[in-house]
Amino acid sequence: MRKDYDDFPDNEFLFGEYDKDRYGHLRRRPDTTGMHFPVRCTHCDEVYDVGTVTVTARYSDCSMWESPCCHRQVDDRGPFWKSRPDIEKLY
Ligand SMILES: [Zn+2]
Repeated sequence: MRKDYDDFPDNEFLFGEYDKDRYGHLRRRPDTTGMHFPVRCTHCDEVYDVGTVTVTARYSDCSMWESPCCHRQVDDRGPFWKSRPDIEKLY
């Protein structure tokens, strides 16, 4: 569940457990230990390692794979191509 900045006391933010995303929302910092290319799924908000997914198709401008969290066909095209990219890079 997404929480807004005002839901948290200042010290929780300062202790570094939360990050502010580009919309100004606070999100709990994900545990990306051991992940090579951690990304956040913009469909269901899960974090996964895009380095371990099975690529199902490769095109000249992008690769496609099934997201391990919500099992959608997603690709790595960025905001230039899609108004809402399928993943948000965390690295
Ligand atoms: Zn997902």
